[in-house]
Amino acid sequence: MADAAAAAEAGGADWIHVDVMDGHFVPNLTFGPKMVADLRKATRLPLDVHLMIERPEDWVARYVEAGAAYVTVHIEATPDAGGTLASIRQAGARPGIALNPETDPSRLVPYLDRADLVLVMSVHPGFGGQSFIPSALEKVRALRAALDARGSSAELEVDGGIKPENAKDIARAGASVLVAGSAVYLDPDGVSAALAKFRNAVA
Ligand code: ZN
Repeated sequence: MADAAAAAEAGGADWIHVDVMDGHFVPNLTFGPKMVADLRKATRLPLDVHLMIERPEDWVARYVEAGAAYVTVHIEATPDAGGTLASIRQAGARPGIALNPETDPSRLVPYLDRADLVLVMSVHPGFGGQSFIPSALEKVRALRAALDARGSSAELEVDGGIKPENAKDIARAGASVLVAGSAVYLDPDGVSAALAKFRNAVA
């Protein structure tokens, strides 16, 4: 993990996106706060921690303490999204709110003023290597319009199935942050070359 973070840093990545999965909210299990704390020591890049877990309100403080710059929770995973976003900010990180592909973007509207990041999932969360769901573009456009209408400077992030080939359309739809795993780490030309392809695609 430290080597992977170092390769991204050397290649010019802006952030490290960390997918935390609990085996309940999504059918896969990854890692918890200890790994985030270890990663915090291994890179200077901001850690963008995406919590795909049930009851994130019980855990957010642990991830802030572990060194997360952003902590993002799913609207589908908590009965108290507003309180959870406030807890993240109070603990000292930037709060983010995410939605799954089947969730209507209007559900996020009540929380847009309290979030520093809005995350649109463009695959069904749980596993890497999936294909981008095209209807996510419409959600990005709708959320871009909603953020602009509020004068919000929150980041609009898209996560899942992003490759240099579709990055331009996603950026044009209004995304400010693109998350890529497979397209960076499995590029036969290497991590730095992959990141350069992304930069060129959205330039
Ligand atoms: Zn993610």
